Amino acid sequence: MALFTVNGIVTRYADYRESDRILTILTSQLGLVSAKARGCRRPKSALLPSAELFVYGEFVLFKNGDKYTVDSCAVEESFYPLREDISRFGAGAYMLSIVNECATEGERADALLSLLLYALSYTAYAGCDPCDMAVCFAARALALMGYMPSLACCACCGADVRAQRRMIFSGEAGGALCALCEDKFPGGAEVSPLSLEALRRMLALSDEQMKKVALPPRVRAELKEAVNLYAERILERRLKAFECL
Ligand SMILES: [Zn+2]
Repeated sequence: MALFTVNGIVTRYADYRESDRILTILTSQLGLVSAKARGCRRPKSALLPSAELFVYGEFVLFKNGDKYTVDSCAVEESFYPLREDISRFGAGAYMLSIVNECATEGERADALLSLLLYALSYTAYAGCDPCDMAVCFAARALALMGYMPSLACCACCGADVRAQRRMIFSGEAGGALCALCEDKFPGGAEVSPLSLEALRRMLALSDEQMKKVALPPRVRAELKEAVNLYAERILERRLKAFECL
């Protein structure tokens, strides 16, 4: 039975039996893994503090067959303020729902884990708008997966769209659409050039620089819809946590 250490964030859990939980953890080393945390819901369990959403720590796992079990965990950060505020919690939950859909087991996930750590930190501690962090996180996580949206040119015909006053942003097409192409892809979200520019800037930042994101209310409202539609299209899932944003 092999024992090894990974660092990661709890992105989901499911209770089972009287006092156990199965944790889903986004790890640097193994991508997304499921691991049993036996007895973690007992008040005196050493695993109690680690078996919660958002907890970041060093998990010691053992593997038996293809199943992982948590042996111990040194919690480094619990992001407690996310639990105290409904809008912060909603943004964090939305980020986790995207991670649960886009990460896979067995592939290293250093960049995604770094992005999630910064986004949760800024949402919990830096006074950043939770919705801005959620939108920024979603767009950047999809870009990490290889889905970089077309923002300056029409995603269908390649025409420059920067001079247009309004345009459609389509997940199906993979970005902005010119007026001639928008009817070919129904179901996109209408956005302004200002919103597209804000999105372009958010995608160009380093993780650390995400702290600087502060969207004007109209841009926030537009990008929230547009980026979520884009994410749902790519992930082929309805992201229920969107309702918490
Ligand atoms: Zn076009």
